[in-house]
Amino acid sequence: MNREFDVAVIGRGIVGLAHALAAARTGKSVVVIDRHARATGASIRNFGFVTVMGQERHEMWPLARQARDVWADVAPRAGIPIEQTGLVLPVRRQAAAAVLKAFMATEMGEDCQLLTDRQLRALDAETPFQPCEAALVSPHELRVEAREAVPRIAAWLEREMGVTFAPPATVIACENGHVVTNAGDYRAAATFVCPGDDLNALFPEVMAAHAVTRCKLQMLRLAAPGYRLARPVMSDLGLTRYEGYSALPEAAPLATQLRAEQGAFLDAGIHLIAVQSADGSLVVGDSHDYGDAPDPFHHARIDALMLEEFAAVLGNVPPVIERWVGIYASSPRQNWFTKAIAPGVHVTVVTCGAGMSTAFAIGERVVGAALNAPIKEIA
Ligand SMILES: Cc1cc2nc3c(=O)[nH]c(=O)nc-3n(C[C@H](O)[C@H](O)[C@H](O)COP(=O)(O)OP(=O)(O)OC[C@H]3O[C@@H](n4cnc5c(N)ncnc54)[C@H](O)[C@@H]3O)c2cc1C
Repeated sequence: MNREFDVAVIGRGIVGLAHALAAARTGKSVVVIDRHARATGASIRNFGFVTVMGQERHEMWPLARQARDVWADVAPRAGIPIEQTGLVLPVRRQAAAAVLKAFMATEMGEDCQLLTDRQLRALDAETPFQPCEAALVSPHELRVEAREAVPRIAAWLEREMGVTFAPPATVIACENGHVVTNAGDYRAAATFVCPGDDLNALFPEVMAAHAVTRCKLQMLRLAAPGYRLARPVMSDLGLTRYEGYSALPEAAPLATQLRAEQGAFLDAGIHLIAVQSADGSLVVGDSHDYGDAPDPFHHARIDALMLEEFAAVLGNVPPVIERWVGIYASSPRQNWFTKAIAPGVHVTVVTCGAGMSTAFAIGERVVGAALNAPIKEIA
């Protein structure tokens, strides 16, 4: 088997695949190396929600818009259905409605609508929304089924973009144009290390320098409720988690009110995202628990809180048919970073819960700069 390439990418999660795509678009030969034969990490455990609204205003919001356009280009080529588009964020507090109003006055509100309860019911007549003060409706988001989409991107990269996927191997070191694995070495002039939340195997000093820790989330799948959700749904709690909203001055009174009214939800890092799959089932989450070694267990107490928030927004709760936890890299210091740690060796980590939404844009930026080459249109 060929072991010499222009570019090696470590990690077949969405960040690694994004780097592989960008490198292939510069015309380089690319190998992707991962310890597993298929993605098993954060990239297949998430909502598949390419979120634009609410991303941090100055860097993540533009990255998400760029990445959303890459998703729209890649998805049909890779045979990935777009399950839903857009977002609706109905809020039940006046303080939350004030945040949405302020948000609409920024450039981030472009092409969005702020609706009354009545207007929302007219727009999404089938959805059993509980009474709300106001609702933000955005056309910008995309939703894919992550557990199917990520393997399909890999298969498409291999089939159509000429990317090689190496047999499973753990990378032990990257130095002097060599990628050292437990199953032999590869040679590559440039290496992009995209290890997700693996803090210890490769370059732990780089992870420590960027204050990278881990974040564990609980997720649920609910049986098909008998209606179609016209678009993904969020709620008041999301306005305190997403920096695009929470950094607005109007978010401070809401945070105080939520602390008084939903303190247990905030303590568990809970906010509501509900999205719908092709079979009608709903993916609902999530909670956030931070630490280098979060406990691996799924807690019924946290599920109950998430379902309480679901009921407050959408009424009756269908039966839970699946539960899982996911872990992503997290940092209080930055949302993502890339670091050149030796000639030709770059480490890129998305350190917040937005890798699905931004990785394609980050891959283009990092690879374009590192290889000093234009990222060509996909043929
Ligand atoms: C429950 C949950 C919900 C989320 N929801 C959203 C969402 O709605 N929208 C959004 O934008 N983002 C969301 N995220 C965040 C998003 O999933 C992550 O930011 C993203 O998947 C990170 O991708 P990654 O490629 O860095 O990591 P991963 O998918 O974890 O991939 C890293 C890969 O690197 C490999 N690897 C690491 N070290 C080595 C080594 N030494 N040798 C060989 N292989 C190695 C691993 O095997 C793994 O396959 C969510 C995350 C979770 C967990």
